Amino acid sequence: MSSDLRDSLDRPLRDLRISVTDRCNFRCTYCMPAELFGERYAFLPRDEILSFEEIERLVALMAPMGVRKVRITGGEPLLRHGLHELVRSLAAIRGVEDIALTTNGTLLERMAGQLKREGLSRLTISLDSLDPEVFSRMNGGKLSVQRVLDGISAAEEAGFEAMKINCVVQRGVNDHTLAALARHFKGTGHIVRFIEFMDVGTKNNWDLEQVLPATEIAALIDAEMPVESAEPNYVGEVAQRLRYRDGEGEIGIISSVSNPFCGECSRARLTTDGKLVTCLFAQGGSDLRALLRSGASDDEVRERIRGIWAGRSDRYSEERSELLGTDRPKRVEMYQIGG
Ligand code: SF4
Repeated sequence: MSSDLRDSLDRPLRDLRISVTDRCNFRCTYCMPAELFGERYAFLPRDEILSFEEIERLVALMAPMGVRKVRITGGEPLLRHGLHELVRSLAAIRGVEDIALTTNGTLLERMAGQLKREGLSRLTISLDSLDPEVFSRMNGGKLSVQRVLDGISAAEEAGFEAMKINCVVQRGVNDHTLAALARHFKGTGHIVRFIEFMDVGTKNNWDLEQVLPATEIAALIDAEMPVESAEPNYVGEVAQRLRYRDGEGEIGIISSVSNPFCGECSRARLTTDGKLVTCLFAQGGSDLRALLRSGASDDEVRERIRGIWAGRSDRYSEERSELLGTDRPKRVEMYQIGG
């Protein structure tokens, strides 16, 4: 089976993001606000989430179609018991070149070493501010900045390098603390990536007024630590690269709102309950779990996936301005696909 599977806009399938749990120990306002996800919130029961075997089967079917990079997300993926076993089995799949994980870092101190040994290649840590008050306001006040920094130190000791530090930027919330975050990681080899606040899902009260565009973020950093733009590392790289003029590393900016990048989007997403989603802003996904559990053959599953991707035409971020204000009641939620 050739690997040049392309969608209707001639984009290959290269990246698969897999949400292994919808649960999280944070309550970030832009993803899982505490007022909606309280103590009694009913997360997916165990038998409704994909098993490791089902995930492994799907990745093994999608690798020959072009999937090279797998990113493990959540919710908070480190809450999923035995995650290192999934990393081990995914690392053994032919064609998968890179396994990355996005985490809030609070459980890394305990798990970084084992994940590294089992084949995890890269880590991305979400950290919206070093200011304890701002941090707490943005993530529901569950755990401390120090806990995240300790997780990053443990990951360094385990051998992880050039980690990505993802910071969701909200005007009037954490924009006054961005330079401090950049300065903290400057010269460490880790790359802070500032993410424009996005209208993902239906729960984050998104407002264009709260979006600080990439140009303003860059100016904020440049004013204190001069930067210059750098070439992308590869086609389809999500973040714009800005390197420090003094040679002490770089930052990135993900500008889905002010400067969309749908043209080279090669990302598919698998929800916790097994739906294949073709865009971060999709209104739903195709149920692969039912197919897997119906006893379908590999050929049947493969054909279904090929059909979904070949028919893909998503480019929401490019269409956003026309769609804003139109009725889009249903959307896949951030915590179901992990960004
Ligand atoms: S909006 Fe959708 S199509 Fe565009 S880059 Fe994001 S995930 Fe890809």
